Amino acid sequence: MRYAETGFNLEIDLSRGNIERVETDPRLTELHLGGLGTNAKILWDRVPPETEPFSPDNLLIFSTGLLGGTPATGANRTIVSTYSPQTLLMAYSMMGGFWAPELKYAGYDKVIFRGKSPNLIYVWINNDKVEIRDASHLQGKGAGETAELIKQELKEPNAQVAAIGLAGENRVYTASIEQGRSSASRLGVGAVMGDKGIKAIVVRGTKDVNLARPAEYMELCNEVLKYIKVREEHPVPGVMTILQGLGSPQEMKHVDEEWHTQNFMWGNARTRKKDYWNKEVEEKWKETQENVRKRLISCYNCPMKCGAIISVPGISTYMMKCFSKLTYTMAAYSDLDFGFRIAQRATEYGVDGFSTPQIMAFAFELKEASILTDADFAGCPSDNEGKFFWLLDRIVRREGIGDVLANGTHWAAQKIGKGAEAYAHNNIKKHEQLPLKLGMLNPVYFLMYATGEKINITQIEGQFPQSPFPTMEEREEFVKDWIQVPDEKFKRYLLDWELRGERSNPYYPTVDMSVDIVDWQEKMHYIDDALGVCAGLSSFPLKPPYHIHNYPHLISSATGIDMDEAGLTQAYKRNRTLVRAINVRRGLRRADEKPPEDHWKKRFPELEEKLLDAYYKFKGWNHDGIPTKETLHDLGMDYVAEDLQQRGIINNEQG
Ligand code: SF4
Repeated sequence: MRYAETGFNLEIDLSRGNIERVETDPRLTELHLGGLGTNAKILWDRVPPETEPFSPDNLLIFSTGLLGGTPATGANRTIVSTYSPQTLLMAYSMMGGFWAPELKYAGYDKVIFRGKSPNLIYVWINNDKVEIRDASHLQGKGAGETAELIKQELKEPNAQVAAIGLAGENRVYTASIEQGRSSASRLGVGAVMGDKGIKAIVVRGTKDVNLARPAEYMELCNEVLKYIKVREEHPVPGVMTILQGLGSPQEMKHVDEEWHTQNFMWGNARTRKKDYWNKEVEEKWKETQENVRKRLISCYNCPMKCGAIISVPGISTYMMKCFSKLTYTMAAYSDLDFGFRIAQRATEYGVDGFSTPQIMAFAFELKEASILTDADFAGCPSDNEGKFFWLLDRIVRREGIGDVLANGTHWAAQKIGKGAEAYAHNNIKKHEQLPLKLGMLNPVYFLMYATGEKINITQIEGQFPQSPFPTMEEREEFVKDWIQVPDEKFKRYLLDWELRGERSNPYYPTVDMSVDIVDWQEKMHYIDDALGVCAGLSSFPLKPPYHIHNYPHLISSATGIDMDEAGLTQAYKRNRTLVRAINVRRGLRRADEKPPEDHWKKRFPELEEKLLDAYYKFKGWNHDGIPTKETLHDLGMDYVAEDLQQRGIINNEQG
């Protein structure tokens, strides 16, 4: 009997139209847990590093996490893994909603696609019955519209549908996969889905998930719920509003956007509007948001209500969560009403709400600089908002200049030339970042930006406050119930961290402390991504209900696997190292690990090199960021060392 997981994957070869239910190896669960960890193992084993993202040999994996679909609050993530057309590295994008639990109830831990379908299809997984169906009638339809049409066609209102819009069909590099209340948006996973000819994956599951020690597990889950309630009643004082509570940043609840509008960059991530927020704007934005927000909604088995149903008069209703309400608004120097209107179209098209607005602002900046010309924008309306709607349509349809821009700012700049590269200034590893430009280098953030494999800072940061508390009283207050720390030393790091002087950025936290902090933050994200638990309840917020001290017990009682903190840390290291090895095999090196040049005004090249050296050393990687033979051996991954050795990436002396 397998516990928490089903023990079966669904393997679908789209070129041959073959569907198989394949039993999985329980030893891999012990080593990698599940979700991201076992996805990485499959990619390592089965997709050679030379494989192009749009090759039929590339795999597209949809995975539940090890705890997904169990009664643990927020255990609902779908982890989508493949090779990214944008970064050419491993992409792993997460979505919340309801899809992963439904898949587990249908009897599968993962769906693995290989090959390509010659025609547009959708896959219908109805417990044991799995079909590949024609989707030609859905071609060009929006992601939300597709989901509704399929549910009507199948007469299955309770089915969960993960679908792409036109952007995915046209292999736009920022194409997302949309799923009702959530989306897997980053790194082009929707483009790979479109390339494989999959319009949607529809799931209905009505089976049970077994638990090893259900009474014990339920008790732990109830403790988590109780803690969530306590945290709701006790917001963290002294930090910005979105960091005071739990959940993904609760943007649908909050209307106070002073911090974002004044600190994030507008346009193509260059301009800060320090004086933007005032009483009048606050009133207006509050009214706009409350008028269109019909109700707050949650993902499966979660009380946090991070998303909202948005209904703007004249256009169809959609769901929004997080920052999309601001990203379009700020890219276009417009207001919130515009953000809500364009986000509806973008959601139906299925595009990433972080990268896409920046790509559009980048294009208009190139036009102002005469690098792009009037001919590139023939037919473009003259009003600001009309321009953005027009360009979004061109990108998603890959028409004219939209075809170039559809590959993101890095690749578009390469193609356009004429100095356009200088305008694609907000990328890490070819991927658009949050539009932030700051003053003083923060050593912890430097390391996270530089080395994170998921490349998005919101998927790496968390746990440790982003900046020091001004007074000792505030720090003491913060650390006194900080039960989540893996080690008491983190409290000291925070207590000693000052806004100014010797113990302030960039030299404090010190190099070694910075490495410790990053390791803790990464550890929690990698564990969440393997367990399928929402980062909004674990790795992202301050003082979350899930942490390194209660996870082992939860895992043991759910799965029957004997787990303690050391074992869980080892599984994290294994997964982290394997993802690194996959990317190393695809060419990632130290030279790629750098935040945008202008991310901070004050840079410290010598310190930055020391930070990278110390981080690599801590991880057991060599000077170039490549795991050593010794490290791989300690993690039981000699097979990785042998492969890297055969390819001449590491040599016998290393380790
Ligand atoms: S915390 Fe928010 S994003 Fe996370 S599962 Fe709950 S509702 Fe979804």
